[in-house]
Amino acid sequence: TIGMIGMDAKGNMAGSCTTSGLSYKMHGRVGDSPIIGAGLFVDNEVGAATATGLGESIIRICGSFLIVELMRQGRTPQEACEEAVKRLIAKNNTNIKDIQAGFLAMNKDGEVGAFAVHPGFNFAQATSQNNQMIDSGSHFK
Ligand code: ASP
Repeated sequence: TIGMIGMDAKGNMAGSCTTSGLSYKMHGRVGDSPIIGAGLFVDNEVGAATATGLGESIIRICGSFLIVELMRQGRTPQEACEEAVKRLIAKNNTNIKDIQAGFLAMNKDGEVGAFAVHPGFNFAQATSQNNQMIDSGSHFK
């Protein structure tokens, strides 16, 4: 999945999410990416979040919506992504070693956060000052 979150000069936010889906997926399977609230959610009053990884595990916790709601309650984007990963692990704990999922979020102040279940989830941040690749960090090391 490629998920993108952006903010314009006036502070308006937008997001998009595109995926080829999982390899060898069942015919007719719908992942999290096309489901608003799972693979992507944007609330211009609060912030935005997007997800990548095993769609079923992300749908189960309504991951992107969950992160935006946590930010609405005052969590930073980083705290919200970490809480979503914690929730995802709790709901999928029997086979968690086989599940990768990661989240990326930004709030209305332009603060960003990201977190994944397992290592290997990087994201790119582009601002008017610079561009950089950032390792999201992960629950399991
Ligand atoms: N999230 C996608 C899906 O479950 C897979 C991906 O990360 O591309 O379909």
